Amino acid sequence: MIEVYNKALDSSIKVDRILGKIEGAKPGPTVVFFGGIHGNETSGVFALKDTLAGINSAYVKGTIYGISGNLKALKKHIRFVKDDLNRLWTKQQIQKIKDKKTFNADEGELLELHTVLEDLLKANQPPFYFVDLHTTSSNTLPFITINDALINRKFSEQFPIPIVLGIEEYLNGPLLSYINQMGYVSLGFESGQHDDFSAITNSIAFVYLTLVYSGILKEEAVINFSKYHEQLKQQANKNKTVYEVIYLHKIKKDERFKMLNGFKSFEHIKKGTKLAMSNAVEIAAPYNGSIFMPLYQQRGAEGFFIIKPIEPFFLKLSTVLRRIKTDSLLAMLPGISWVSKAEGVLQVNLTVAKFMAKPLFHLLGYRNKQITSTHLRLNNRERVAKTKIYKKEPWY
Ligand SMILES: [Zn+2]
Repeated sequence: MIEVYNKALDSSIKVDRILGKIEGAKPGPTVVFFGGIHGNETSGVFALKDTLAGINSAYVKGTIYGISGNLKALKKHIRFVKDDLNRLWTKQQIQKIKDKKTFNADEGELLELHTVLEDLLKANQPPFYFVDLHTTSSNTLPFITINDALINRKFSEQFPIPIVLGIEEYLNGPLLSYINQMGYVSLGFESGQHDDFSAITNSIAFVYLTLVYSGILKEEAVINFSKYHEQLKQQANKNKTVYEVIYLHKIKKDERFKMLNGFKSFEHIKKGTKLAMSNAVEIAAPYNGSIFMPLYQQRGAEGFFIIKPIEPFFLKLSTVLRRIKTDSLLAMLPGISWVSKAEGVLQVNLTVAKFMAKPLFHLLGYRNKQITSTHLRLNNRERVAKTKIYKKEPWY
């Protein structure tokens, strides 16, 4: 049974852009938490208010921020007002909004958040950690989503919950991809189903674990540390698998999409399983795998994902290959050339390099492809990652 928490952030609860800032007694890393980037996902905001109020700055080594996302949508308890705030974060889109004379509610939120982000990067010490707290419309285990850079993977592997890689290949403009492009560790945490009480308690547990794993708080300074760890482990059914996204059903503009009832994230499905209705036609699973984030709300453009576990052997192999920067060899192959080596952008001529398979690019850290009719563009997360500033951290 699901315990439902009070749904909206009613007017008695004041939500500021900065939910809290704790400057520690000693210098150290900077950890930034976002809650409520989607206005119907209030759990993160509640969790941040709760945790930040309970931390004594005398024990803090570094700086902690809690930031609320879409204030206007949070007030109405809706995902967004006009545009999804978590799909606006591309350089081009931000510039476009900056150049506008008038902008809508969500674009206004983006501009404010963008300023907050730039200011805090200037005012604080590296290493930086960014965590974005979300919930899902379907029942789910708590899990982490990350862009596939080794710093993200290594930091995430400390948590006793599943990790899903590569979602950014399918989404345009989430906040975390933007921060990742700047090279910092950034994690998305999906704590549970919207308005489920455990979505709040899981977020609280995750916030404390993040503070300990980043070295801002000592384990001894968090009285319930082992309880929080155990809670997430149990809530995740002891699943610590690393998955990658292999499929997305993207909902088209005029498509009437309805997920069939009863699917839960991470539930195993067979190829051919009936999953949803699209304009009154049945959609069957195109692959074996696990269903991921099936859509059970009106708003949202992603119907469902399918994910698959990555074999531990391949996780290890990709770590080794990326460390020795094997991708420099790629650019020597016919049909493959650098667009920008510093930014890690490769161009692949498909008519020449037809044989190059997607899994090979994945192994080497390439994601986020943009395809023209003849060319593939690939971004390497490793080349933009500020790996150096994390090398001395205990988890690296
Ligand atoms: Zn969300």
